[in-house]
Amino acid sequence: MARYTGPSCKLCRREGTKLYLKGERCLSDKCAINRRTSAPGQHGAAKKKMTEYGMQLREKQKAKRYYGVLEKQFKNYYVKADNQDGIAGENLLRLLERRLDNVVYRMGLAASHKEARQLVLHGHFTLNGHKANIPSILVKVGDVVAVKETESTKIKELVEAMGDKIAPKWLEIDKNAGVAKVIAMPERDDIDFEFNEQLIIELYSK
Ligand code: SF4
Repeated sequence: MARYTGPSCKLCRREGTKLYLKGERCLSDKCAINRRTSAPGQHGAAKKKMTEYGMQLREKQKAKRYYGVLEKQFKNYYVKADNQDGIAGENLLRLLERRLDNVVYRMGLAASHKEARQLVLHGHFTLNGHKANIPSILVKVGDVVAVKETESTKIKELVEAMGDKIAPKWLEIDKNAGVAKVIAMPERDDIDFEFNEQLIIELYSK
């Protein structure tokens, strides 16, 4: 399936929550969710009782869209999470958090997951000293993600702006150097976005 290129705000309205897909705009009064909470489309405002399947599907779509992952890739994460020890839902979120583009987002270098993905694809980062331009690479404890070139004006500005963002406790960040070290696996409490991951697991395990 091709990557969605339509209006990002429509996705938030569909899920009925802010997915933070447009950076600064998401924090401003211009956010579409602040202005109109109904789902997009002709019957978006109609009140409908959601089925159990509907709730599971919406939760999966929400997580998929928040992290900017395609369906097939998301299903692969579920399979992997389900085969790991522990709670499958938490394993799934942990895998998504460990993506390189998410690390860049958590470092505060990108205003959205989409922007983080672009920065990685354009080769602005290294992983353990080697060029890393694949957004889906999963980091592990001990890995070091670093900005490759601070000469570029854009990257320089981003590194300078890092000071304002709060990093999760599983990352040790050197803001001056634009470097993040993975010091632990992300825990459920580290994810500051509301997901009901159990609904996603129920959907896939049917
Ligand atoms: Fe979603 Fe951001 Fe658009 Fe608000 S501005 S609806 S959070 S993408």
